[in-house]
Amino acid sequence: MSRLWSEMTRRTEPYVPGEQSGHTGIIKLNTNENPYPPSPKVTEAIQEEVSRLHLYPSPTADGLRRAIAETEDLTEDHVFVANGSDEVLAFSFMAFFDPGRLIRFPDITYSFYPVYAKLFGIPYKEVPLRDDFTLDIAGFEQSEGGIILPNPNAPTGIYEPLDGIRKILEANPGRVVIIDEAYIDFAGPSAAGLISEYDHLLVTRTTSKSRSLAGLRVGYALGRPELIEGLVRIKDSFNSYTLDRLSQSGAEAAFRDAAYFREMTDKVLLTRSRSADRLGKLGFRILPSSANFLFCRHPGMAAEQLYSELKERGILVRHFSRPRISDYLRITVGTDGQMDQLIGVLHEVLAE
Ligand code: PMP
Repeated sequence: MSRLWSEMTRRTEPYVPGEQSGHTGIIKLNTNENPYPPSPKVTEAIQEEVSRLHLYPSPTADGLRRAIAETEDLTEDHVFVANGSDEVLAFSFMAFFDPGRLIRFPDITYSFYPVYAKLFGIPYKEVPLRDDFTLDIAGFEQSEGGIILPNPNAPTGIYEPLDGIRKILEANPGRVVIIDEAYIDFAGPSAAGLISEYDHLLVTRTTSKSRSLAGLRVGYALGRPELIEGLVRIKDSFNSYTLDRLSQSGAEAAFRDAAYFREMTDKVLLTRSRSADRLGKLGFRILPSSANFLFCRHPGMAAEQLYSELKERGILVRHFSRPRISDYLRITVGTDGQMDQLIGVLHEVLAE
């Protein structure tokens, strides 16, 4: 720590993402990426866009926003885009949460929320999940400064039906409620359908999971035009372009290829249910997943040991040393072949 750092830099605890692997041959099931490459239309669009790289990108990303709006049955002024939903979330904290007012999020949730809250000096209260890891809806009533929660939750994968989300919205008029839907395409209906009813609802999404574009860094938010204008105001103060040409054209092509999206999502869902069955047969207890990962524990071996045994054998999964979930592993749903290898290795490890 340098004494030249600002107060903000000093109080910031950086977010530590899952390990990236530089090795080929490693099976990477630790950061919830899609195991399938993006649509061939994405490759074509990016290749074509290369010839235009001498020109600045559209600061308003109109083509991409139009494609997203059409997919969601909304108009473009309901759509905001930025570099990954992590950046969308950072802009949202700045645009809608105030340093003097307590926001709320679940105690077991996406670990970026406390990082941003501390960075921007926003006080927060963590609302404990119930014993079965579902949301305690009553704990989110009448927040002072706003709410943020993922649906499905991360890293549990549990989906909260829209009735619960509606209750939270009803109990927090005048404060922004952010529903982080990074994994919604593997789950039930989206809260985006409630935007016409609630002016304080912001839904954030990513192309990193269901659209296979984690490497392109494109996230987006859906909400009423007045909320979206707030985000644009913040974004323009940092970097008016935000998304480069390749990201805009590649992501637009992904949204235009609905058939590929459905095919890949269906494949992941099929592998998820097969893998859950097979892990169950090995003795794992698995939380009901509505995401592209399985959150599970084995009564016969500590999660940390399982994590290390798998890593030694070339398979990366995620282990969190946080209280209450340190018994669990989060395993991304890979291809059928990758999951076969995982099950084979687990079989050996657990039999030893
Ligand atoms: N929200 C949640 C709940 C996530 O798990 C993730 C991915 N780790 C993100 C947001 C960020 O996704 P990205 O920045 O890749 O769009």
